[in-house]
Amino acid sequence: MAEEMDCTLAMIKPDAVAAGKASEIQQLAEMHGFLIIAKRQLQLTTRLAEDFYAEHKGKAFFNGLVEFMTSGPIVALVLSKAGAIRAWRELMGPTNVFDARLKAPKSLRALYGSDGTRNATHGSDYPQSAAREIKFYFPNLQLASAAEDAATAQEYIA
Ligand code: GDP
Ligand code: MG
Repeated sequence: MAEEMDCTLAMIKPDAVAAGKASEIQQLAEMHGFLIIAKRQLQLTTRLAEDFYAEHKGKAFFNGLVEFMTSGPIVALVLSKAGAIRAWRELMGPTNVFDARLKAPKSLRALYGSDGTRNATHGSDYPQSAAREIKFYFPNLQLASAAEDAATAQEYIA
């Protein structure tokens, strides 16, 4: 099946924003063919960070993750491109910065991250999470593709 134009939810995390890298990361996204179709800069509260990362509740790194994600402003972006979810995760590189430096030295996490928790960027992992995460930050954004993305989630996973 041909890949359709679709969307993902990206975050530039507090470490990268504090380091002054937010503009550079957005420029890199655009250079790689992503359209920035919505953008917000905000600081997460503990409650919002816990909600956003609810799937990780109970894991050893959860409290540290929430503490990190509430430590300063973030930039939330809706990015659009054919195959946006996979393409953005590929540009970000592996979750762990040390893996990223070894396996994908030009990836965003290799370039801008600093350790296991502070890895500079976020990207949705599946169409259903992209739909949820886009709604989390941009509840009023009307995306024709979001519902379709959720509907095709099963096919994507299979
Ligand atoms: P992602 O989708 O690649 O961001 O990775 P996950 O959804 O698995 O984890 C969410 C975030 O939690 C990651 O981006 C890291 O910031 C953090 N994280 C994940 N796994 C670990 C871990 O094993 N140790 C630590 N310290 N942080 C982690
Ligand atoms: Mg994830």
